[in-house]
Order: sequence, then C-alpha cells, then structure tokens
Amino acid sequence: MTVLEASETPGRMRTRVARFDVSGRKLLLPLMTPFGTRFLAAGFRAFGVPAEVMETYKGLAYGREFTSGKECFPCQVTLGDILYHLEKEKERLGSEFSADRYVYFLPESDGPCRFGMYNKYQRLILDRFPEYRDIPITYLSTQDAYAVAGLLPAHRARYFRRLAYVSAIIGDVMDRIVWRVRPYEWRRGMTDEFMEVSARAMERLIEEVGNRRDFRALYRLLEDVASTARTFIDPRKPRRPRIGIVGEIYLRTHPDSNQDIIRRVEDFGGEVVDASIGEWINFVSYEHSRKLKRRCRLAWRRGDREAFRKAFRKLVVQEVENAWQRWRQNEVYRVVRRRLDIEPDHSIRSIERFLDRGRHFNFDVGTEAALSIGGALAYLHEGFNGIINVFPFTCMPSTMCSAVLKPILHEKRVPYLDAPYDGSYQPNREAALRTFIYQARQHQAAQGNGRDTP
Ligand code: SF4
Repeated sequence: MTVLEASETPGRMRTRVARFDVSGRKLLLPLMTPFGTRFLAAGFRAFGVPAEVMETYKGLAYGREFTSGKECFPCQVTLGDILYHLEKEKERLGSEFSADRYVYFLPESDGPCRFGMYNKYQRLILDRFPEYRDIPITYLSTQDAYAVAGLLPAHRARYFRRLAYVSAIIGDVMDRIVWRVRPYEWRRGMTDEFMEVSARAMERLIEEVGNRRDFRALYRLLEDVASTARTFIDPRKPRRPRIGIVGEIYLRTHPDSNQDIIRRVEDFGGEVVDASIGEWINFVSYEHSRKLKRRCRLAWRRGDREAFRKAFRKLVVQEVENAWQRWRQNEVYRVVRRRLDIEPDHSIRSIERFLDRGRHFNFDVGTEAALSIGGALAYLHEGFNGIINVFPFTCMPSTMCSAVLKPILHEKRVPYLDAPYDGSYQPNREAALRTFIYQARQHQAAQGNGRDTP
C-alpha cells in the first residue's frame, strides 16, 4: 500500500462523508449480521444500486495498522474490511481500478458513543491513500431514525426503507430459526447447510420482488424455510438451558469478532437467543418519537405555535412509521411461529417497563445500555437460564450494563457472564463459558423447566 501524509481540507468531512444519491455506483457494505446485511444489500440491488457485502475480518491487520488501539474494536474491524476489499479490487482490476465506481456505506449514531465518529475517522484514513481519496462515504444515522432520504431519489427512498426494514426482520427471524433448530439437529451441519441455501434463495427473491414490495412472496419462502427447518429437530434430544445474549450490536451479531460465541455456547450445551437487529431499529424509532415529544412540550411551554406545529407534524409521521414497523414485525414473526416456536422479539415498550420507571436504568440516558439492561430483565421474566453480555473491550454502554446487571442477576441467582472482545484470544474464555453453561443447567434443573423434548 502506498501511504501519503494526511491532507485533510476543511469541509471535506461534509462533502466526502455525506448522504447523496448512490444509484448506479457500487455500494460497499461491511458485514455485520450474517443474514441481515446480505438481505440489505439485496434490497439495494432491487432498487438499482449494485450493492456488495465485503468479505469480513480478513483485513484486521490493516484495521490495526491504521488505528492507535484506543478506538472501539468494531471500528478496527470495519476499517480492515474496507482496506482489504479495496486492495483486492486493485489487484483484480489493475489499471482499470477507479475510485469513481465505489461508495462506502458506514452508518453512524448520535449520542454519547464513538460510533458517530467511525465514518469520519475512516475518511481520514482513506484520504491517506491517493487512489482512495475519491471514494465517498455515505451513511444512515440514528439522528433521523435511519431515514433513507438522500441515498435514493425521494420517490423511491421511502419504499426502500420499508423493504430494508422487512428484510432486517426476515434476517432476525432466520437467525432465530438457526438458534432454535441447530442445537437439536439430527446430523451436525445440516441446519447451516440448509439455511445457507435458503439465505441465497431469499437474497434472489428480495432482488426480484423487492422493488414492488411483494412482501407476501418473501413470507411464503420464509414459511417454507421454517417448515423444513422444523423437521431437522431430533425429538429425542432434551431441551437445553436457554441463554439470552445482550450487548453491543456489532459485536454480538458479528461471529468473527465474537469468536463465534453462539456456536461455542451451543457446543457446550446451551440454546441461544441473541437480541435482534429489529429491536435496535425499533428503539431508534422510539427514541426519535420521544425527542419529538420533548420538542413539542418545549415549544408549547414557550408558546411558540409555529415550532409546536412543525414538531407535532413530524411526531405524527414518526408514530405512524413506528406503528407500521410493529405491525410488520409481528406479521413476519407470526408467519414463522405458525411452523416453528422461535422466541418472539421484545417490544421496546416492554423493555422500558422492565427498567422499572428508571429504577434500573433510564431511556433518557440513551445508548444500547438501556436495551441491554431491559432486554436481559425481559429474558429473565421469560425464564431464561443465563445471560451473556457481549461487547467490545472498553465499550462504555456495555460497561454500564455490566455494572447494573451483575448485582441484579446475582441476587436473583441467574448465571451471568461478561464477554468482552478485542480480537485477541483469552486462554480462559472456554473455561468461563463451560462453567457458565454448567451453572445455567443447574438453574434450569432448579426451575424445573428442562422440558423433556426440544
Ligand atoms: S457502543 Fe461501545 S463499541 Fe460502539 S461506539 Fe459506543 S463505546 Fe464504542
């Protein structure tokens, strides 16, 4: 790689990390959740954007080379993914490599977390390579509840967002099918093989029908997948202790970064449910509504009618969107639960209720900690036998979550494990997981909820 001195110019952050029409350019997506990211890319392709999910974790050495070590681990991993991908593209295309072809997609969030800075930081790194300087970075942001406006022409952006939402929920549900079936499969590997074939079929179908939002066609395929997957369960195998995973969204959903923790838990005898992507999207929308309500209240108190009218109009639009999301999410889960008893998702209202009016935590503090704490307490209520908090080493919200959850779960005698990751291998991780599963089994036995059949 050729490395130049950083030559950042004022305003470049605004023009080269921006929302603009990406139609016709290759959109590069870093992989986060194995199914969901692929379905999102398929959704973009359905709307004429040649999106591609980059190979992941192969470029971690690049990610480490161009960070100081103080950045959050997901920033290192995604930076490695883009640098590795572009390096491979240069090798493949030789002199035909051109920055004009690509747009790099890296979402961001507002609030106190460093996630809002990943794409700016990575801009600085890409600018150090003359051949990458002209690759713009685009994003969706939690600030406006992931509005797609700007990425696609206005008349299509709204429909794309709807397809993206349904695709994300389908990704969640397919994950849940795997977690429900794989621990009890007749032959090792059969669930993964089948779900990979199904995921490819789903990608093709999203590409084919996504543009006209034929969700019924997607549901039909999903129902078939659930019906077939159910037959993989060996009824002689006893039900395992159920383990709920919470934590930082990237780490808990990206198997390479979390050293495949779900599979490890299954190897040691547990059945896992990881918090979903839908939960995060719904939380972002819910938070957006709360902000708008606050704005309405302030404008009302000030007697500023114009500001009140504006905020109220936005609030109504957002509330309609939230209701639509709840309806669609329930619909997708219903389709699958007709065939297979996957775990339902937590509603954001129920998660907030579990925070007990701010006694455990408060949505006003924001961040994923609110979801993780409330989500863990919801798992508890549902009779889960253990909780794992998966997060990047030094992650601020997850550290808060750990501080709050540990004493509560200790008092309730429910096994709890912190699982921080930074890409290194901890020699005692396996022993910790085995011990945790042993405790979860005891919890299951004590509760008498170890049903005989899966
Ligand atoms: S949630 Fe954790 S890992 Fe993500 S940006 Fe915030 S501190 Fe970093």
